[in-house]
Amino acid sequence: MRFIVLIKQVPDTHDVKIDPKTGNLVREGVPTIVNPEDRHALEAAVGLKGEGDEVVALTMGPPQAVDVLTEALGMGADRGVLLTDRFFGGADTWATSYTLGRAIEHLGPFDLVLCGRQAIDGDTAQIGPQVAEHLGVPQVTYVTELRLEDGRLVARRDLIDRIEEVESPLPALVTVLAGLNTPRYPVAADLLAACEDDAPIEVLNAADIGVMADMSGLRGSYTRVTKTFAPKVGRETRQIEGPPAEMARQLVSILREKALVS
Ligand SMILES: Cc1cc2nc3c(=O)[nH]c(=O)nc-3n(C[C@H](O)[C@H](O)[C@H](O)COP(=O)(O)OP(=O)(O)OC[C@H]3O[C@@H](n4cnc5c(N)ncnc54)[C@H](O)[C@@H]3O)c2cc1C
Repeated sequence: MRFIVLIKQVPDTHDVKIDPKTGNLVREGVPTIVNPEDRHALEAAVGLKGEGDEVVALTMGPPQAVDVLTEALGMGADRGVLLTDRFFGGADTWATSYTLGRAIEHLGPFDLVLCGRQAIDGDTAQIGPQVAEHLGVPQVTYVTELRLEDGRLVARRDLIDRIEEVESPLPALVTVLAGLNTPRYPVAADLLAACEDDAPIEVLNAADIGVMADMSGLRGSYTRVTKTFAPKVGRETRQIEGPPAEMARQLVSILREKALVS
């Protein structure tokens, strides 16, 4: 079987700042990490892997995104693929998922694509479902339990108001939640091997995967970010004075005025 795991390099969001002049995220000097849910997707793939199976970690990003593939190899992926090209810059989710979908097709037949539910920087949770649409395979989202039985996928989906158990034929795509498993720590020796020149990491560009320039990056994006800004958080202070019963009356009145109580 062939498992493809989509992994995104994201800024450590505790440190993310927005440049007040350009409105862009300040990425310089910000530490990056593997998107947390993607580590759970990788753990699931490595756990499901049997004799003769292959786990491929795939990421799209700038050249330094290779770091997430190094970590993936350290966690048990058999090989990594980095999609990088200046044509991919400025991609919205549509262009990103089209490019990832084309890369998966380029890699050949697969049984299961695994991704995180959402990335902690973009936060849209659109990539998994969109990649499934591009590939024309069934998708099972919000997965917290996953197994393969008789060539089918059996999964539990945790939704806000209910839990669903579903089955799907393969090939398919799943998006996973953190509750699925506990990701293993990378093995130091494998991490070191993944940093060597002969590590099984392939770098592909737009031409390699047959992506047309007007379908990828900014040109292939239907949406434009016109402004990015940190919301102003204001705090209003009002002082209430008088005897306790009067202060309580005034407080209730203010809360009603702001529709905070009925
Ligand atoms: C108009 C526009 C312009 C943008 N320009 C830029 C830009 O210039 N530079 C930039 O960095 N971002 C840019 N973005 C953000 C970029 O589109 C998103 O980061 C990207 O499409 C992924 O969306 P997401 O982060 O919401 O992923 P989600 O849908 O929340 O991610 C779900 C899962 O999909 C997988 N996944 C997501 N992204 C990748 C990836 N790149 N590689 C592998 N797997 C992945 C992971 O498994 C992840 O857990 C732009 C967005 C818009 C709308």
